[in-house]
Amino acid sequence: MSTILMTKNKILDGRAISSAILSELKTKIHRLDGIPTLVAILVGDDPASKIYVSMKQKRAKEIGINTRVINLPASTSQEQLHETIQDLNEDKTVDGILLQLPLPQHLDSNQAIAIIDPNKDVDGLNYINFGKLHMGLEGFNPCTPLGVIEMLKRSDVKMEGKDAVVIGRSNLVGKPLARMLEMENATVTLCHSKTRNLKRYTEYADIVVSAVGKPQTITADMIKQGAVVVDVGISRTKNGLVGDVDFELVKLKASKITPVPGGVGPMTIAMLMSNTVNAFERRRYT
Ligand code: NAP
Repeated sequence: MSTILMTKNKILDGRAISSAILSELKTKIHRLDGIPTLVAILVGDDPASKIYVSMKQKRAKEIGINTRVINLPASTSQEQLHETIQDLNEDKTVDGILLQLPLPQHLDSNQAIAIIDPNKDVDGLNYINFGKLHMGLEGFNPCTPLGVIEMLKRSDVKMEGKDAVVIGRSNLVGKPLARMLEMENATVTLCHSKTRNLKRYTEYADIVVSAVGKPQTITADMIKQGAVVVDVGISRTKNGLVGDVDFELVKLKASKITPVPGGVGPMTIAMLMSNTVNAFERRRYT
């Protein structure tokens, strides 16, 4: 096998996998007896948040999901935000509610997310869905960890019996991902900023997922030959977007590795679309 082909097979191509998922969803949506509707709430003028929302809208439109964006001023109060969410909870035409984060500093995102109807919580961040995940009950799971698991499954990465290390313990990524890997029967270690000697855990792991947001957190000496390495981190540097992993050198040891960009990011959007279609189906058919 040529070196180019070997390298290509190594790369977990999030763009290709997500586009396969989106095309499956498009076919599925075509057969539904209605059109799923996703509403995004965008508070303030954060340029990155605006870009993320418009990317999600674009993907949704491509596969036949209706979208609406509610733009609220940065001065919106917690009560006004809750009222907007309540209105969407009661609106029978809305299947999924997405509260784009981060919110302006004076707003409490946890309180606002707690107001979202768990059946419309397509980001899977409401405490009811979080609790369901940890109890093994069906609910909505957060899109980024869901995207990581889906990517590993579709790339034939076996998780059962494997030693997995997740670095980062946020409610958005690390914690739910550790639980999801455990549900796939991996043995999971969850590391964080107070972990002493991170390398001690990563160097024996079969699967390493980094969700920290600091470049060069994972270097080649920390990785076992043949390990699967998933990079969730995103940092903006003068050289563009980079992940947590020293990609060029770690790639030489890993059996599979995600790039940044083009790895986990596109999977997150695909899972948001998938959750929205599921929300539509659950509301109509269960
Ligand atoms: P977060 O809430 O800031 O959490 C970062 C985690 O990293 C924390 O648990 C922190 O530990 C841990 N950490 C910080 N420094 C560390 C170190 N030196 N060694 C080990 N652990 C360390 O971030 P997040 O929301 O989970 O996001 C993590 C990264 O993923 C960010 O770069 C974000 O932009 C990216 N992200 C990407 C996607 C995507 O679609 N690709 C989606 C979501 C997030 P403590 O808990 O001890 O503070």
